[in-house]
Order: sequence, then C-alpha cells, then structure tokens
Amino acid sequence: MTDNEIEKLLKELKELNAHFELQNFEAKKVLDKIENEMKVEFPSGFKMKNIEKEILLETYRPWVKKLGQWHLASDDGKTRCGKPMLGNNYAKYIPENERVECPDCFK
Ligand SMILES: [Zn+2]
Repeated sequence: MTDNEIEKLLKELKELNAHFELQNFEAKKVLDKIENEMKVEFPSGFKMKNIEKEILLETYRPWVKKLGQWHLASDDGKTRCGKPMLGNNYAKYIPENERVECPDCFK
C-alpha cells in the first residue's frame, strides 16, 4: 500500500467518522425529545400499571354508585365485573379521588 493509498483511506475513514458523529447527534436529539415527552406524559414516572389503568379508563366509562364504588361499564350497558347497573350514575358528582375502585373492574 502506498502512502497515497493510506492517505486516501484515512480521509475516507475521517469522513465516515464525521458521518457517524452527525448520525449520533441526530439520534441523541430524537432520544432527548422522546425523553422530554415521556416526562410530560408521565410526570410520576413510566409504570406499566399506570398505562393499564389509562387503557381501562379510555376503553370504559365510569359507573359510580352513590357510596363511591367505581365500576367500569361498556357501551352495551354492562359492567366489567358483571354487577348490574342499577340506580343512578354518580360519576359526574363524585371525583376520582373519592371513589373506591371495584377490584374486578380494575384488575
Ligand atoms: Zn365492578
């Protein structure tokens, strides 16, 4: 290998290195963006348990009894746990922090 060839190879390696550094930089920017979005979306940390509850709350509507028992109901008028939806729905009147989750609806 001549000096010229080695020099050419070194130049190519430097260019390649610069290319990868740029790629790393771009990837780091994307990761930082995702990290920031996660922090906004999950201020108390990402936990699978929280996601499962989010999904349940998105999928079902609340059916809250007078004493605060919190069931999840589907649009066909059935609770997840199978308890009948008798009486009024107090979801509008009882805030989430005062309800008691039905263990069968929220499992
Ligand atoms: Zn229930």
